[in-house]
Formats: sequence, structure tokens, C-alpha cells
Amino acid sequence: MRSVLPRAVRDLSGELARWPGIGPKTAKRLAIHLLRQPRRAVARVADTLKSLHANVTLCTQCYNLAEQEICTICSDELRRREVLCVVESPLDVEAIEQAGSYDGRYHVLGGVLSPLEGIDAEQLTLQELFARLKREPISELILGLNPTVEGEATARYIVQALPDESIAITRLGRGLPTGGDIEFADATTLAAAFSGRTTLK
Ligand SMILES: [Zn+2]
Repeated sequence: MRSVLPRAVRDLSGELARWPGIGPKTAKRLAIHLLRQPRRAVARVADTLKSLHANVTLCTQCYNLAEQEICTICSDELRRREVLCVVESPLDVEAIEQAGSYDGRYHVLGGVLSPLEGIDAEQLTLQELFARLKREPISELILGLNPTVEGEATARYIVQALPDESIAITRLGRGLPTGGDIEFADATTLAAAFSGRTTLK
């Protein structure tokens, strides 16, 4: 079916429809919503989009999103140095931080092993994780990976690659819903997952 919307509206809705959770109809609605806003408000949105990459980087220690070379968590002297929680994405860090029941540091993998999607160990920050474990005084590694097939495979990979017996490897308790993401878990569930963590090695 041919769209009768002007080209600029179609272009914008085409871009928006690529975003997660946005279907073609919602994309058109959003584009028209923007068109109805004052120009200044739209310019603000455009500026925010343009500055996204300029003002966000990856922390050189934990690979979480950061505004400076070292993120606010890594540079916080009050956070425990001997506990490291491995997560898939910055959204997991965000959820755990919002829950407020963890005071160690993180390591963000940037994904999980997924042969189907062509994601192998090289594309994740696994080597960087192993280097940190050699370099930093870490006594417990908490695997905060989602209970999915890929999350489990990644957890197994880490356990097998770590012969160092001085580091205890634990995983979050099974309070998380099956296939459910840490990202969407509520504060109570996350607190229970941290306090009910089990030892793997
Ligand atoms: Zn960091």
C-alpha cells in the first residue's frame, strides 16, 4: 500500500520503526507527534541524538557505559574491590544499581556467546575479564548472566577458562524468572538473587 505521507515524515518513521519495540504504525504516530511540537523542542531532540556518541564512551576497566575514561562505579573508592559481577549489558548494571543491593564492581561482557548469531568469545570482553582477574585482587566472581541458553553457555565458558582456585565463582540465585532478564527484574527479586547466590567453583 502506497503511503501518502510526505517524504520527510516517511523517512523519519522508517528510522523510528527500526528501534526495538516500535512497529510501523507507532513510528508514523511518533513522527507526526514530533511534527506537531514547537521547532525548538524538535531541535533539542536532534541535538540530544547528535551528542549521544560524542558524550558516551566505554569505561576502560569494566566496559560499562561512561562519560569519562573510568566510570563512576569503578572510580568509587567505597565499592568493594574483591567482588566482581559479570553481566551482559549496561542495562543489567542499571537494574542492579537501581535495586541497590550490591556494592562490588562489574564487568560488562557486551553480549553473550551465541553461535546462531555469530557471536564468539572474541567479540565479547572475555579476554579483558581474564586479564582483570589476574591483575586485580578479586576473591569472588559473581556470574550475573541471564538464565537463557546463551547465558548458560557463557557461564560455562567462564568457569572452564578459570583454573585459578583462589577465586570463588558464584551465580545469582534462581529467583529470576526462567528466560527472564535481569534488566526487567524488580528490586526485591534482584536482592534475593544476590543474597541467594550459589557457588559454582
Ligand atoms: Zn567502570
